[in-house]
Amino acid sequence: MTSLAHFEEVARAIELPRDAVIDGRLQPSLSGRRFDNVTPRNGTVLNGVAECDTADIDAAVASGRRAFEDGRWRNLHYRDKKRALFALADLIKRDAETLAVLESLDVGKPIKNALKGDIPGVVSTLRYYAEALDKIYGEVGPGTSDRFSFTVHEPLGVIGAIVPWNFPLLMAMWKVAPALAMGNSVVLKPAEQPPLTALKLGQLALEAGLPAGVLNVVPGFGATAGKALGLHMDVDMIAFTGSGAVGRLLMQYSGESNLKRVSLELGGKSPQIVFADCPDLDAAALQAAWGIFYNQGEVCTAASRLLVHEDIADAFLDKVLAIAKGIVPGDPLEPATSFGAMVSAEQMQTALRYIEGAAQEGAALRLGGKRARIDSGGFYVEPTVFDSVAPQAALAREEVFGPVLAVTRFREPDEAIRLANDTVYGLAAGLWTRDVSLAHRAAREIRAGLVWVNGWDACDITMPFGGFKQSGFGRDRSLHALYKYADLKSVSITIR
Ligand code: NAD
Repeated sequence: MTSLAHFEEVARAIELPRDAVIDGRLQPSLSGRRFDNVTPRNGTVLNGVAECDTADIDAAVASGRRAFEDGRWRNLHYRDKKRALFALADLIKRDAETLAVLESLDVGKPIKNALKGDIPGVVSTLRYYAEALDKIYGEVGPGTSDRFSFTVHEPLGVIGAIVPWNFPLLMAMWKVAPALAMGNSVVLKPAEQPPLTALKLGQLALEAGLPAGVLNVVPGFGATAGKALGLHMDVDMIAFTGSGAVGRLLMQYSGESNLKRVSLELGGKSPQIVFADCPDLDAAALQAAWGIFYNQGEVCTAASRLLVHEDIADAFLDKVLAIAKGIVPGDPLEPATSFGAMVSAEQMQTALRYIEGAAQEGAALRLGGKRARIDSGGFYVEPTVFDSVAPQAALAREEVFGPVLAVTRFREPDEAIRLANDTVYGLAAGLWTRDVSLAHRAAREIRAGLVWVNGWDACDITMPFGGFKQSGFGRDRSLHALYKYADLKSVSITIR
Protein backbone atom coordinates (compact mmCIF):
# COMPACT_ATOMS: atom_id res chain seq x y z
CA MET A 1 0.00 0.00 0.00
CA THR A 2 1.14 3.54 -0.48
CA SER A 3 2.41 6.08 2.06
CA LEU A 4 1.18 8.43 4.78
CA ALA A 5 2.16 11.33 2.51
CA HIS A 6 -0.08 9.93 -0.21
CA PHE A 7 -3.12 9.67 2.05
CA GLU A 8 -2.49 13.12 3.52
CA GLU A 9 -2.39 14.45 -0.03
CA VAL A 10 -5.67 12.67 -0.84
CA ALA A 11 -7.19 14.14 2.33
CA ARG A 12 -6.12 17.67 1.35
CA ALA A 13 -7.55 17.30 -2.14
CA ILE A 14 -11.02 16.13 -1.02
CA GLU A 15 -13.78 18.66 -0.97
CA LEU A 16 -15.28 17.63 2.37
CA PRO A 17 -19.05 17.08 2.16
CA ARG A 18 -20.94 19.46 4.44
CA ASP A 19 -24.53 19.75 3.25
CA ALA A 20 -27.56 17.57 3.74
CA VAL A 21 -28.97 15.72 0.74
CA ILE A 22 -32.70 16.40 0.66
CA ASP A 23 -35.09 16.03 -2.26
CA GLY A 24 -32.30 15.49 -4.76
CA ARG A 25 -30.33 18.60 -3.77
CA LEU A 26 -27.42 19.46 -1.51
CA GLN A 27 -28.76 21.81 1.13
CA PRO A 28 -27.46 23.63 4.20
CA SER A 29 -29.67 23.24 7.26
CA LEU A 30 -32.81 25.41 7.19
CA SER A 31 -31.56 27.21 10.30
CA GLY A 32 -28.19 27.86 8.62
CA ARG A 33 -26.40 26.31 11.61
CA ARG A 34 -23.38 24.05 11.22
CA PHE A 35 -21.57 21.90 13.78
CA ASP A 36 -17.84 21.31 14.12
CA ASN A 37 -16.76 17.97 12.74
CA VAL A 38 -13.64 16.93 14.67
CA THR A 39 -11.10 14.32 13.60
CA PRO A 40 -9.96 12.04 16.44
CA ARG A 41 -6.65 11.71 14.60
CA ASN A 42 -5.42 14.96 16.16
CA GLY A 43 -8.47 16.63 17.72
CA THR A 44 -8.75 19.38 15.10
CA VAL A 45 -11.90 20.55 13.31
CA LEU A 46 -12.20 19.12 9.80
CA ASN A 47 -15.17 21.16 8.66
CA GLY A 48 -18.57 22.55 9.60
CA VAL A 49 -21.46 20.23 8.75
CA ALA A 50 -25.11 21.21 8.33
CA GLU A 51 -26.80 20.90 11.72
CA CYS A 52 -30.20 19.66 10.70
CA ASP A 53 -33.16 19.83 13.00
CA THR A 54 -36.89 19.13 13.04
CA ALA A 55 -37.61 21.35 10.03
CA ASP A 56 -34.98 19.59 7.90
CA ILE A 57 -36.28 16.18 8.98
CA ASP A 58 -39.80 17.31 8.02
CA ALA A 59 -38.53 18.34 4.58
CA ALA A 60 -36.65 15.06 4.10
CA VAL A 61 -39.59 12.90 5.21
CA ALA A 62 -41.98 14.88 2.97
CA SER A 63 -39.61 14.35 0.06
CA GLY A 64 -39.34 10.64 0.81
CA ARG A 65 -43.12 10.40 1.07
CA ARG A 66 -43.68 12.14 -2.29
CA ALA A 67 -41.19 9.82 -3.94
CA PHE A 68 -42.91 6.81 -2.41
CA GLU A 69 -46.47 7.83 -3.23
CA ASP A 70 -45.84 8.75 -6.87
CA GLY A 71 -44.03 5.46 -7.35
CA ARG A 72 -40.93 6.90 -9.03
CA TRP A 73 -38.83 4.26 -7.27
CA ARG A 74 -41.30 1.76 -5.85
CA ASN A 75 -42.94 1.14 -9.22
CA LEU A 76 -39.78 1.34 -11.29
CA HIS A 77 -39.18 -1.88 -13.20
CA TYR A 78 -36.97 -4.15 -11.12
CA ARG A 79 -34.44 -4.18 -13.95
CA ASP A 80 -34.04 -0.39 -13.62
CA LYS A 81 -33.90 -0.41 -9.85
CA LYS A 82 -31.20 -3.00 -10.06
CA ARG A 83 -29.30 -0.97 -12.63
CA ALA A 84 -29.41 2.14 -10.40
CA LEU A 85 -28.18 0.27 -7.32
CA PHE A 86 -25.38 -1.42 -9.27
CA ALA A 87 -24.41 2.00 -10.67
CA LEU A 88 -24.21 3.32 -7.11
CA ALA A 89 -22.04 0.36 -6.10
CA ASP A 90 -19.73 1.11 -9.04
CA LEU A 91 -19.42 4.76 -7.99
CA ILE A 92 -18.60 3.75 -4.42
CA LYS A 93 -15.92 1.46 -5.83
CA ARG A 94 -14.63 4.25 -8.06
CA ASP A 95 -14.35 6.58 -5.04
CA ALA A 96 -13.18 3.88 -2.63
CA GLU A 97 -9.97 5.67 -1.72
CA THR A 98 -11.74 8.97 -1.05
CA LEU A 99 -14.37 7.25 1.06
CA ALA A 100 -11.74 5.29 2.98
CA VAL A 101 -9.77 8.45 3.74
CA LEU A 102 -12.94 10.23 4.89
CA GLU A 103 -13.84 7.28 7.11
CA SER A 104 -10.34 7.07 8.54
CA LEU A 105 -10.18 10.80 9.28
CA ASP A 106 -13.67 10.99 10.72
CA VAL A 107 -13.63 7.84 12.88
CA GLY A 108 -9.91 7.45 13.61
CA LYS A 109 -9.84 3.95 12.12
CA PRO A 110 -6.76 2.68 10.30
CA ILE A 111 -6.83 3.55 6.61
CA LYS A 112 -5.84 -0.04 5.91
CA ASN A 113 -9.04 -1.31 7.52
CA ALA A 114 -11.22 1.27 5.80
CA LEU A 115 -9.73 0.37 2.41
CA LYS A 116 -9.74 -3.40 2.84
CA GLY A 117 -12.70 -3.87 5.18
CA ASP A 118 -15.30 -1.11 5.38
CA ILE A 119 -15.54 0.10 1.79
CA PRO A 120 -15.42 -3.31 0.04
CA GLY A 121 -18.05 -4.43 2.58
CA VAL A 122 -20.24 -1.48 1.60
CA VAL A 123 -19.95 -2.36 -2.10
CA SER A 124 -20.66 -6.05 -1.59
CA THR A 125 -23.65 -5.31 0.66
CA LEU A 126 -25.19 -3.07 -1.97
CA ARG A 127 -24.56 -5.59 -4.73
CA TYR A 128 -26.03 -8.41 -2.65
CA TYR A 129 -29.35 -6.57 -2.23
CA ALA A 130 -29.34 -5.27 -5.81
CA GLU A 131 -29.02 -8.88 -6.95
CA ALA A 132 -31.78 -9.99 -4.59
CA LEU A 133 -34.42 -7.43 -5.48
CA ASP A 134 -35.92 -9.36 -8.40
CA LYS A 135 -36.03 -12.59 -6.45
CA ILE A 136 -38.76 -11.58 -4.03
CA TYR A 137 -41.70 -13.92 -4.36
CA GLY A 138 -45.02 -14.21 -2.60
CA GLU A 139 -46.98 -17.39 -1.94
CA VAL A 140 -50.12 -18.86 -3.34
CA GLY A 141 -52.61 -19.93 -0.69
CA PRO A 142 -54.44 -23.28 -0.76
CA GLY A 143 -57.55 -21.53 -2.13
CA THR A 144 -60.78 -23.14 -3.25
CA SER A 145 -62.39 -23.59 -6.64
CA ASP A 146 -63.96 -20.14 -6.35
CA ARG A 147 -61.19 -18.26 -4.56
CA PHE A 148 -57.59 -17.56 -5.48
CA SER A 149 -55.36 -16.24 -2.69
CA PHE A 150 -51.79 -15.01 -2.75
CA THR A 151 -49.37 -12.90 -0.72
CA VAL A 152 -47.22 -9.96 -1.79
CA HIS A 153 -44.36 -8.22 -0.02
CA GLU A 154 -44.99 -4.50 -0.22
CA PRO A 155 -42.54 -1.79 0.76
CA LEU A 156 -43.39 -0.03 4.02
CA GLY A 157 -42.97 3.55 2.85
CA VAL A 158 -40.50 5.97 4.43
CA ILE A 159 -37.74 4.37 6.47
CA GLY A 160 -35.77 6.40 9.02
CA ALA A 161 -32.29 4.88 9.32
CA ILE A 162 -30.33 6.04 12.38
CA VAL A 163 -26.79 4.71 12.54
CA PRO A 164 -23.75 4.80 14.85
CA TRP A 165 -20.21 6.03 14.39
CA ASN A 166 -18.05 2.90 14.50
CA PHE A 167 -18.57 1.66 10.92
CA PRO A 168 -20.56 4.63 9.66
CA LEU A 169 -20.93 3.77 5.99
CA LEU A 170 -21.17 0.02 6.44
CA MET A 171 -23.85 0.25 9.14
CA ALA A 172 -25.73 2.72 6.94
CA MET A 173 -25.53 0.39 3.95
CA TRP A 174 -26.76 -2.59 5.97
CA LYS A 175 -30.02 -0.63 6.24
CA VAL A 176 -30.13 1.56 3.14
CA ALA A 177 -29.47 -1.27 0.65
CA PRO A 178 -32.25 -3.68 1.70
CA ALA A 179 -34.69 -0.80 2.34
CA LEU A 180 -34.13 0.62 -1.17
CA ALA A 181 -34.08 -2.82 -2.77
CA MET A 182 -37.56 -3.41 -1.33
CA GLY A 183 -38.78 -0.14 -2.91
CA ASN A 184 -38.87 2.16 0.12
CA SER A 185 -37.68 5.74 0.49
CA VAL A 186 -34.99 6.33 3.11
CA VAL A 187 -34.09 9.21 5.39
CA LEU A 188 -30.63 8.44 6.75
CA LYS A 189 -29.43 10.19 9.93
CA PRO A 190 -25.72 9.50 10.36
CA ALA A 191 -24.02 9.78 13.74
CA GLU A 192 -22.80 13.30 14.40
CA GLN A 193 -19.19 12.27 15.11
CA PRO A 194 -18.50 10.97 11.59
CA PRO A 195 -21.08 12.34 9.13
CA LEU A 196 -18.85 12.62 6.05
CA THR A 197 -19.19 9.28 4.25
CA ALA A 198 -22.98 9.23 4.62
CA LEU A 199 -23.14 12.67 3.01
CA LYS A 200 -20.88 11.47 0.23
CA LEU A 201 -23.17 8.45 -0.22
CA GLY A 202 -26.12 10.81 -0.71
CA GLN A 203 -24.18 12.66 -3.41
CA LEU A 204 -23.17 9.45 -5.17
CA ALA A 205 -26.77 8.21 -5.12
CA LEU A 206 -27.81 11.27 -7.10
CA GLU A 207 -24.93 10.73 -9.53
CA ALA A 208 -26.01 7.10 -9.92
CA GLY A 209 -29.47 8.25 -10.98
CA LEU A 210 -31.54 7.39 -7.93
CA PRO A 211 -34.62 9.61 -8.20
CA ALA A 212 -34.85 12.68 -5.94
CA GLY A 213 -36.21 11.95 -2.48
CA VAL A 214 -35.48 8.23 -2.54
CA LEU A 215 -32.37 8.58 -0.39
CA ASN A 216 -32.16 11.67 1.82
CA VAL A 217 -29.20 12.15 4.17
CA VAL A 218 -29.75 14.46 7.11
CA PRO A 219 -26.81 15.10 9.45
CA GLY A 220 -27.47 16.41 12.94
CA PHE A 221 -27.55 15.52 16.60
CA GLY A 222 -29.44 12.60 18.08
CA ALA A 223 -31.43 14.62 20.59
CA THR A 224 -32.76 16.91 17.85
CA ALA A 225 -32.62 15.42 14.33
CA GLY A 226 -32.72 11.79 15.52
CA LYS A 227 -35.58 12.46 17.92
CA ALA A 228 -37.56 14.31 15.23
CA LEU A 229 -37.21 11.30 12.95
CA GLY A 230 -38.22 8.91 15.74
CA LEU A 231 -41.32 10.96 16.58
CA HIS A 232 -42.33 11.71 13.00
CA MET A 233 -45.92 10.81 12.15
CA ASP A 234 -45.09 10.02 8.55
CA VAL A 235 -42.12 7.69 9.06
CA ASP A 236 -43.16 4.04 8.76
CA MET A 237 -40.16 2.42 10.38
CA ILE A 238 -37.01 3.29 12.27
CA ALA A 239 -34.08 1.01 11.55
CA PHE A 240 -31.58 1.73 14.29
CA THR A 241 -28.08 0.68 15.23
CA GLY A 242 -26.63 2.15 18.39
CA SER A 243 -26.88 2.07 22.15
CA GLY A 244 -29.56 0.47 24.28
CA ALA A 245 -30.35 3.82 25.89
CA VAL A 246 -31.30 5.35 22.55
CA GLY A 247 -33.03 2.14 21.48
CA ARG A 248 -35.34 2.51 24.48
CA LEU A 249 -36.10 6.11 23.51
CA LEU A 250 -36.95 5.09 19.96
CA MET A 251 -39.50 2.56 21.21
CA GLN A 252 -41.03 5.31 23.35
CA TYR A 253 -41.11 7.69 20.40
CA SER A 254 -42.91 5.05 18.38
CA GLY A 255 -45.53 4.65 21.11
CA GLU A 256 -45.93 8.40 21.42
CA SER A 257 -46.36 8.91 17.70
CA ASN A 258 -47.66 6.60 14.98
CA LEU A 259 -46.61 3.15 16.25
CA LYS A 260 -43.95 3.00 13.57
CA ARG A 261 -42.00 -0.20 13.45
CA VAL A 262 -38.67 -0.19 15.20
CA SER A 263 -35.77 -2.54 14.62
CA LEU A 264 -32.87 -2.32 17.03
CA GLU A 265 -29.27 -3.46 16.65
CA LEU A 266 -27.74 -2.65 20.02
CA GLY A 267 -24.69 -3.33 22.11
CA GLY A 268 -23.04 -6.44 23.46
CA LYS A 269 -20.65 -7.97 25.96
CA SER A 270 -19.72 -10.90 23.82
CA PRO A 271 -17.86 -13.88 25.27
CA GLN A 272 -15.24 -15.95 23.54
CA ILE A 273 -14.83 -19.31 25.28
CA VAL A 274 -11.61 -21.28 24.95
CA PHE A 275 -12.18 -24.83 26.17
CA ALA A 276 -9.27 -27.01 27.29
CA ASP A 277 -9.35 -29.00 24.03
CA CYS A 278 -9.08 -25.92 21.80
CA PRO A 279 -7.93 -27.26 18.41
CA ASP A 280 -5.52 -24.42 17.63
CA LEU A 281 -4.31 -22.21 20.47
CA ASP A 282 -2.39 -19.86 18.17
CA ALA A 283 -5.41 -19.23 15.96
CA ALA A 284 -7.61 -18.77 19.03
CA ALA A 285 -5.11 -16.34 20.58
CA LEU A 286 -5.06 -14.28 17.37
CA GLN A 287 -8.85 -14.10 17.39
CA ALA A 288 -8.93 -13.36 21.11
CA ALA A 289 -6.65 -10.36 20.54
CA TRP A 290 -8.15 -9.04 17.31
CA GLY A 291 -11.67 -9.92 18.43
CA ILE A 292 -11.36 -7.10 20.98
CA PHE A 293 -8.77 -4.77 19.45
CA TYR A 294 -10.04 -4.51 15.86
CA ASN A 295 -11.40 -0.99 15.24
CA GLN A 296 -10.03 0.03 18.68
CA GLY A 297 -12.62 -2.19 20.35
CA GLU A 298 -15.41 -0.02 18.94
CA VAL A 299 -17.31 -2.99 17.57
CA CYS A 300 -20.75 -4.11 18.76
CA THR A 301 -19.64 -7.74 18.50
CA ALA A 302 -16.26 -7.11 20.17
CA ALA A 303 -15.05 -10.21 21.99
CA SER A 304 -14.77 -8.22 25.19
CA ARG A 305 -14.97 -11.24 27.55
CA LEU A 306 -12.42 -14.00 27.21
CA LEU A 307 -13.48 -17.11 29.15
CA VAL A 308 -10.61 -19.57 29.27
CA HIS A 309 -10.23 -22.98 30.88
CA GLU A 310 -7.97 -22.75 33.91
CA ASP A 311 -5.69 -25.61 32.75
CA ILE A 312 -4.58 -23.68 29.69
CA ALA A 313 -5.21 -20.14 30.92
CA ASP A 314 -1.64 -19.06 31.71
CA ALA A 315 -0.13 -20.35 28.49
CA PHE A 316 -3.02 -19.07 26.42
CA LEU A 317 -2.96 -15.63 27.98
CA ASP A 318 0.77 -15.38 27.28
CA LYS A 319 0.03 -15.94 23.61
CA VAL A 320 -2.73 -13.30 23.60
CA LEU A 321 -0.45 -10.81 25.36
CA ALA A 322 2.38 -11.45 22.91
CA ILE A 323 0.04 -10.55 20.03
CA ALA A 324 -1.50 -7.61 21.84
CA LYS A 325 1.93 -6.11 22.61
CA GLY A 326 2.46 -5.81 18.88
CA ILE A 327 -0.74 -3.79 18.46
CA VAL A 328 0.44 -0.24 18.91
CA PRO A 329 -1.70 2.88 18.52
CA GLY A 330 -0.71 4.79 15.41
CA ASP A 331 -1.73 7.55 13.03
CA PRO A 332 -4.89 6.33 11.26
CA LEU A 333 -3.68 7.61 7.88
CA GLU A 334 -0.36 5.75 8.14
CA PRO A 335 -0.76 2.58 6.02
CA ALA A 336 1.16 0.43 8.51
CA THR A 337 -1.20 1.34 11.37
CA SER A 338 -3.52 -1.42 12.50
CA PHE A 339 -4.90 0.29 15.61
CA GLY A 340 -5.99 3.93 15.44
CA ALA A 341 -7.74 6.56 17.55
CA MET A 342 -11.02 6.31 19.44
CA VAL A 343 -13.81 8.28 17.82
CA SER A 344 -14.04 11.12 20.34
CA ALA A 345 -12.58 12.53 23.53
CA GLU A 346 -15.76 11.38 25.27
CA GLN A 347 -15.38 7.76 24.10
CA MET A 348 -11.73 7.80 25.13
CA GLN A 349 -12.67 9.04 28.61
CA THR A 350 -15.29 6.30 28.92
CA ALA A 351 -12.68 3.63 28.18
CA LEU A 352 -10.21 5.18 30.63
CA ARG A 353 -12.91 5.30 33.31
CA TYR A 354 -13.63 1.58 32.89
CA ILE A 355 -9.90 0.84 33.08
CA GLU A 356 -9.63 2.74 36.35
CA GLY A 357 -12.75 1.04 37.71
CA ALA A 358 -11.51 -2.44 36.80
CA ALA A 359 -8.28 -1.93 38.67
CA GLN A 360 -10.24 -0.69 41.70
CA GLU A 361 -12.49 -3.76 41.52
CA GLY A 362 -9.44 -6.00 41.86
CA ALA A 363 -8.79 -7.19 38.31
CA ALA A 364 -5.13 -7.71 37.39
CA LEU A 365 -3.86 -5.32 34.72
CA ARG A 366 -1.67 -7.30 32.33
CA LEU A 367 -1.27 -4.82 29.48
CA GLY A 368 -1.86 -1.18 28.56
CA GLY A 369 -4.27 0.90 30.58
CA LYS A 370 -3.20 4.36 29.51
CA ARG A 371 -3.91 7.10 27.01
CA ALA A 372 -1.41 7.09 24.15
CA ARG A 373 0.01 9.54 21.58
CA ILE A 374 -1.04 12.48 23.74
CA ASP A 375 1.21 14.87 21.80
CA SER A 376 -0.79 14.24 18.64
CA GLY A 377 -3.83 15.92 20.22
CA GLY A 378 -5.85 12.82 19.21
CA PHE A 379 -7.84 10.34 21.25
CA TYR A 380 -5.77 7.17 21.62
CA VAL A 381 -5.98 4.43 24.25
CA GLU A 382 -3.57 1.51 24.58
CA PRO A 383 -4.84 -2.03 23.99
CA THR A 384 -5.62 -3.14 27.53
CA VAL A 385 -5.94 -6.59 29.09
CA PHE A 386 -7.24 -7.41 32.56
CA ASP A 387 -6.92 -10.92 34.00
CA SER A 388 -8.97 -12.41 36.88
CA VAL A 389 -12.02 -10.29 36.21
CA ALA A 390 -14.82 -11.33 38.55
CA PRO A 391 -18.08 -12.17 36.77
CA GLN A 392 -19.88 -9.51 38.84
CA ALA A 393 -17.38 -6.75 38.00
CA ALA A 394 -18.51 -3.86 35.80
CA LEU A 395 -15.88 -4.82 33.24
CA ALA A 396 -17.49 -8.25 32.87
CA ARG A 397 -21.02 -6.88 32.59
CA GLU A 398 -21.02 -3.46 30.89
CA GLU A 399 -20.15 -2.60 27.34
CA VAL A 400 -17.02 -0.43 27.22
CA PHE A 401 -16.96 -0.03 23.46
CA GLY A 402 -13.22 0.37 23.66
CA PRO A 403 -10.01 -1.70 23.61
CA VAL A 404 -10.37 -3.42 26.98
CA LEU A 405 -10.33 -7.21 27.34
CA ALA A 406 -11.73 -8.89 30.46
CA VAL A 407 -10.30 -12.37 31.10
CA THR A 408 -12.13 -14.81 33.39
CA ARG A 409 -11.09 -18.41 34.06
CA PHE A 410 -13.45 -21.38 34.37
CA ARG A 411 -13.25 -25.02 35.40
CA GLU A 412 -16.24 -26.88 33.88
CA PRO A 413 -17.79 -26.49 30.40
CA ASP A 414 -21.21 -25.83 31.93
CA GLU A 415 -19.71 -23.08 34.05
CA ALA A 416 -18.40 -21.43 30.88
CA ILE A 417 -21.83 -21.62 29.23
CA ARG A 418 -23.42 -20.18 32.36
CA LEU A 419 -20.90 -17.32 32.46
CA ALA A 420 -21.42 -16.67 28.75
CA ASN A 421 -25.15 -16.28 29.37
CA ASP A 422 -24.71 -14.24 32.55
CA THR A 423 -25.31 -10.93 30.79
CA VAL A 424 -28.20 -8.73 29.73
CA TYR A 425 -26.77 -8.83 26.21
CA GLY A 426 -26.91 -11.52 23.56
CA LEU A 427 -25.24 -10.35 20.41
CA ALA A 428 -22.33 -12.69 19.62
CA ALA A 429 -20.36 -15.53 21.16
CA GLY A 430 -17.43 -17.67 20.14
CA LEU A 431 -16.20 -21.04 21.31
CA TRP A 432 -13.13 -23.10 20.63
CA THR A 433 -13.24 -26.87 21.04
CA ARG A 434 -12.53 -30.12 19.17
CA ASP A 435 -15.53 -31.77 20.79
CA VAL A 436 -18.34 -31.78 18.23
CA SER A 437 -20.98 -32.54 20.82
CA LEU A 438 -19.84 -29.76 23.11
CA ALA A 439 -19.71 -27.35 20.16
CA HIS A 440 -23.28 -28.17 19.17
CA ARG A 441 -24.58 -28.09 22.72
CA ALA A 442 -22.88 -24.82 23.62
CA ALA A 443 -23.88 -23.19 20.32
CA ARG A 444 -27.51 -24.03 21.09
CA GLU A 445 -27.42 -23.13 24.79
CA ILE A 446 -25.73 -19.76 24.42
CA ARG A 447 -28.35 -17.03 24.12
CA ALA A 448 -26.85 -14.91 21.34
CA GLY A 449 -27.82 -14.01 17.81
CA LEU A 450 -24.43 -15.01 16.38
CA VAL A 451 -22.35 -17.99 17.50
CA TRP A 452 -18.99 -18.78 15.96
CA VAL A 453 -17.24 -22.10 16.54
CA ASN A 454 -13.45 -22.24 16.10
CA GLY A 455 -13.30 -18.78 14.54
CA TRP A 456 -14.40 -15.24 15.39
CA ASP A 457 -16.64 -13.10 13.20
CA ALA A 458 -16.57 -15.93 10.72
CA CYS A 459 -19.60 -15.03 8.63
CA ASP A 460 -20.65 -12.56 5.96
CA ILE A 461 -23.52 -10.74 4.30
CA THR A 462 -25.33 -14.02 3.58
CA MET A 463 -26.01 -14.66 7.27
CA PRO A 464 -28.39 -12.68 9.49
CA PHE A 465 -26.80 -10.35 12.02
CA GLY A 466 -28.43 -9.20 15.23
CA GLY A 467 -29.01 -9.82 18.87
CA PHE A 468 -30.99 -11.66 21.51
CA LYS A 469 -32.05 -10.08 24.80
CA GLN A 470 -30.97 -6.44 25.25
CA SER A 471 -28.82 -6.57 22.15
CA GLY A 472 -31.97 -5.80 20.21
CA PHE A 473 -34.27 -7.38 17.68
CA GLY A 474 -34.64 -7.44 13.94
CA ARG A 475 -31.82 -8.57 11.72
CA ASP A 476 -29.40 -6.84 9.37
CA ARG A 477 -27.74 -8.71 6.49
CA SER A 478 -29.09 -11.74 4.58
CA LEU A 479 -32.52 -11.99 2.94
CA HIS A 480 -34.14 -11.67 6.37
CA ALA A 481 -33.15 -8.01 6.35
CA LEU A 482 -34.85 -7.50 3.01
CA TYR A 483 -38.20 -8.72 4.33
CA LYS A 484 -37.85 -6.49 7.38
CA TYR A 485 -38.56 -3.52 5.12
CA ALA A 486 -41.79 -4.97 3.73
CA ASP A 487 -45.37 -5.53 4.78
CA LEU A 488 -47.01 -8.82 3.95
CA LYS A 489 -50.33 -8.43 2.15
CA SER A 490 -52.87 -11.21 1.58
CA VAL A 491 -54.97 -10.84 -1.55
CA SER A 492 -57.98 -13.10 -2.17
CA ILE A 493 -59.87 -13.02 -5.43
CA THR A 494 -63.33 -14.52 -5.58
CA ILE A 495 -63.94 -16.09 -8.96
CA ARG A 496 -67.50 -15.47 -10.20
P1 NAD B 1 -25.81 6.05 20.18
O1 NAD B 1 -27.02 5.26 20.55
O2 NAD B 1 -25.35 7.09 21.12
O3 NAD B 1 -26.04 6.79 18.79
C1 NAD B 1 -26.48 6.08 17.65
C2 NAD B 1 -27.28 7.01 16.78
O4 NAD B 1 -28.43 7.42 17.49
C3 NAD B 1 -26.54 8.28 16.37
O5 NAD B 1 -26.86 8.60 15.04
C4 NAD B 1 -27.13 9.31 17.32
O6 NAD B 1 -27.10 10.63 16.80
C5 NAD B 1 -28.56 8.83 17.42
N1 NAD B 1 -29.26 9.30 18.61
C6 NAD B 1 -28.76 9.69 19.81
N2 NAD B 1 -29.75 10.12 20.63
C7 NAD B 1 -30.91 9.98 19.93
C8 NAD B 1 -32.28 10.25 20.22
N3 NAD B 1 -32.66 10.75 21.41
N4 NAD B 1 -33.20 9.97 19.27
C9 NAD B 1 -32.84 9.45 18.08
N5 NAD B 1 -31.57 9.22 17.73
C10 NAD B 1 -30.61 9.47 18.65
O7 NAD B 1 -24.72 4.96 19.87
P2 NAD B 1 -23.22 5.20 19.41
O8 NAD B 1 -22.46 5.71 20.58
O9 NAD B 1 -23.18 5.98 18.14
O10 NAD B 1 -22.79 3.72 19.03
C11 NAD B 1 -22.34 2.84 19.98
C12 NAD B 1 -23.38 1.81 20.28
O11 NAD B 1 -23.86 1.21 19.08
C13 NAD B 1 -22.82 0.68 21.10
O12 NAD B 1 -23.72 0.30 22.09
C14 NAD B 1 -22.67 -0.43 20.07
O13 NAD B 1 -22.64 -1.71 20.60
C15 NAD B 1 -23.83 -0.20 19.20
N6 NAD B 1 -23.65 -0.83 17.88
C16 NAD B 1 -24.40 -1.93 17.58
C17 NAD B 1 -24.24 -2.58 16.36
C18 NAD B 1 -25.08 -3.78 16.00
O14 NAD B 1 -25.18 -4.08 14.82
N7 NAD B 1 -25.68 -4.46 16.93
C19 NAD B 1 -23.31 -2.09 15.46
C20 NAD B 1 -22.55 -0.97 15.80
C21 NAD B 1 -22.74 -0.34 17.02
